[in-house]
Amino acid sequence: MHHKPAQRKALRLTPRLVNWYAENARDLPWRRTNDPYAIWVSEIMLQQTRVTTVINYWERWMRAFPTINKLARARPEQVLKLWEGLGYYSRARNLQLAAKQIVARHNGTFPDDPEAIRSLPGIGRYTAGAISSIAFEQPEPIVDGNVIRILTRLFGLRGDPKSKPMQETLWALANQLVKATADCGALNQSLMELGATVCHPRAPQCDRCPVARSCVARREGLIHLLPAKPVRAATMKRGIQVYLITHSDRVLLQKRPEGFHNAGFWELPNDETGPARMLATDAKPLATARHTITRYRIQLQLFAVPRSKTPGEWHARDNLNAIPLTAAHRKLLRQI
Ligand code: SF4
Repeated sequence: MHHKPAQRKALRLTPRLVNWYAENARDLPWRRTNDPYAIWVSEIMLQQTRVTTVINYWERWMRAFPTINKLARARPEQVLKLWEGLGYYSRARNLQLAAKQIVARHNGTFPDDPEAIRSLPGIGRYTAGAISSIAFEQPEPIVDGNVIRILTRLFGLRGDPKSKPMQETLWALANQLVKATADCGALNQSLMELGATVCHPRAPQCDRCPVARSCVARREGLIHLLPAKPVRAATMKRGIQVYLITHSDRVLLQKRPEGFHNAGFWELPNDETGPARMLATDAKPLATARHTITRYRIQLQLFAVPRSKTPGEWHARDNLNAIPLTAAHRKLLRQI
């Protein structure tokens, strides 16, 4: 058989990666199952959140919604409640939307066809590849931040990983790797795991790396230059005034409208959604909180104000823990 150099390299690398994974994989609850639904939920949670945080959320979620059917029938408020604190709530909404589609189109059984998987809401190329390979042992590639770090270093790729030609190269390499083995799930997970536990962004532990002998970045002293940093859009600062309007032991809240960030969550009235109010600039806030959404760095300041005509619904203070509140506003309320 005639192989191109990258293919030959893939054939050399895969057994080392698969064997390393078998011996070094962390024992995580979603790795003890091959239920595609359970794996899917873990992959969606892990997209923006660290493993240690995800474990509790995943276990709670799987207890509340052990099957796709249960999730499809759940109240949206309960779905958001179980996601509260993980952020990027469209992920939770898309999980339920996809569950409903699976019930309607596939009788509640998670599809094993990669095309059908990719057509579900909230499932992109990476997540589809992860589910196909881990749950169904299909040779579908994955490329995410961890994989980008390993492949750019291992193959000495210097381009901006977000650029189109580099994306094509990275997907092609990931594809060659996963197609060079029968252990597709283990191979893809070895890349995730190596990126998470050994090939760290700042101080990779190359002496523990199963593919160190083949690593171009290590040989050529490029580790700290790879992956190349993309040119970043500047972050922008924004201030939001938040209003505490109370009536005996109740607080006025508004629901985030559909189509906006955090839709369906409750929050205190504020000048982002409601009419701007004139507050004396020297008024001292009752509480402050910061958070970051995409490239906005937001500072929230909480002020007590009279109701006037502010729309909203009254909620008993004691009940605030039981409803889905945006994380930033919960931070503010905790301080008072
Ligand atoms: Fe990463 Fe070091 Fe392994 Fe290269 S040798 S892939 S830099 S851990």
